[in-house]
Amino acid sequence: MRTASDNFWFHGIPPLESGAALFGEHEADVAIIGGGFTGIAAAYFIKQRFPEKRVIVLESEFVGYGSSGRNSGGVTGLLGHSCLHMKKKLGIEKTTRLLQFTFQSVSLVEELIKKHDIDCDYERAGRLVIAEGERQVRHLEEQAKASEEVGAKTLWLEKEEARSRFGGVNVLAALYLPDEGVINPVKFLRGMKRAAESIGVEVYEHSRCTHIEPGPMMSLYTSLGSVRARDIVMATNAYSNPLGLLKYKVLPFYIYQITTEPLTQGQLDEFHCKGQQNVFVAKNLYWAARFTADNRLMFVECDTLFFYDIECDYSHRPSEYRSHYRLMIEKFPFLKGIKVTHQWGGRIGITLDFLPSVGRTGKHNNVYYSMGYNGNGLGFGQLAGKMLAALMAGENSELTNNMLINKPMLGIPSASATYLASHGLKFYYKTRDRLLEM
Ligand SMILES: Cc1cc2nc3c(=O)[nH]c(=O)nc-3n(C[C@H](O)[C@H](O)[C@H](O)COP(=O)(O)OP(=O)(O)OC[C@H]3O[C@@H](n4cnc5c(N)ncnc54)[C@H](O)[C@@H]3O)c2cc1C
Repeated sequence: MRTASDNFWFHGIPPLESGAALFGEHEADVAIIGGGFTGIAAAYFIKQRFPEKRVIVLESEFVGYGSSGRNSGGVTGLLGHSCLHMKKKLGIEKTTRLLQFTFQSVSLVEELIKKHDIDCDYERAGRLVIAEGERQVRHLEEQAKASEEVGAKTLWLEKEEARSRFGGVNVLAALYLPDEGVINPVKFLRGMKRAAESIGVEVYEHSRCTHIEPGPMMSLYTSLGSVRARDIVMATNAYSNPLGLLKYKVLPFYIYQITTEPLTQGQLDEFHCKGQQNVFVAKNLYWAARFTADNRLMFVECDTLFFYDIECDYSHRPSEYRSHYRLMIEKFPFLKGIKVTHQWGGRIGITLDFLPSVGRTGKHNNVYYSMGYNGNGLGFGQLAGKMLAALMAGENSELTNNMLINKPMLGIPSASATYLASHGLKFYYKTRDRLLEM
């Protein structure tokens, strides 16, 4: 992404209301680095809990500049991987408990929208996972069984029913997850920023934190000012590495998406489109398609890329847009010639176990953090904000007593090791996907 205008979510909404930059020396109770879902939700819930505290957010560009403004707008309670994968890694009991907890993020998003009257095109559209071939059907059956075992609500759809919901390709069967939603993430985040500001949170934009000086009072420096705060919150997810704290715990992987002009009625009919359906194909490196509120198709190929130079930004990549377009037309030939109006990329923060970690660290125990969402941070980012506020309050509840709290993040020894490992892993997944297509 070069500018916000590359990104569909900034299309047709009022221009950026750029906030003030931090200027001069400040004292605060809590200083939060990062103005995405995590940072704004943390600010909101902390201020709500401690109205007397001065809570400041520092954002290097503008609120929504990072992944929170660039994602596909799927509101899910799932974490980085499928129920099947989680069940294999954690066992049935732990996965069940964890998902029961994380699925609260969907209702939390709904609650926040309602409470603050946020106009963000939200729809509880569910998630449709489709199988295009016989082997994918069997893979999907395994997914369905695992979902049932861990208590995730799903509905198995036979061919006719599946095709009536998504006619884009020759679907043989599908798994429907009803408890998920879709949203315009930028509208939602702006609504949350307004809600946080209305209770007294101060959000400073164009205020990159360049340096952190740890101590019982933490000092954060920007080019024009500084903040001394008792507690800080690291809400920088896939952008965390340059700051030094929690370095190389979360790896920036890149993912790209394209959005078409509004579809014609004929094209919508081909898709059997009803609302903002969110469709994924049952593969490891899947493609996904969702419809927007104004009937465009947003297409993502989840063939994430890791680049050796971890400090550089690779979120604008025309070769990726072209390959997305080719795949989209291969899948949906009736879209041939359609114009792509927006194309952009962003980072997802990957951890070695595909799970996030939320906690408190540092010599003075005053560095709070939440990161490593592995591509599922829209809903979870809100829950994380609530968890951080509960941790700060010393609360003893499921918000502070669950396996994600202070979960060690293994991190990586070096960028070259990650580069090799990511290519190895991708080769493995691609081979498995090819088998699923046979
Ligand atoms: C293409 C794409 C599709 C996705 N689709 C989905 C989806 O459908 N559903 C879903 O749940 N998740 C999805 N995700 C993931 C989701 O967007 C992220 O997990 C989530 O946005 C992370 O939120 P965050 O606030 O933690 O981080 P971010 O939104 O990345 O926010 C971090 C912020 O910190 C700022 N920052 C960084 N360094 C500094 C500094 N030194 N000083 C001040 N500010 C700093 C950055 O500018 C940025 O704004 C997707 C991601 C991408 C890229």
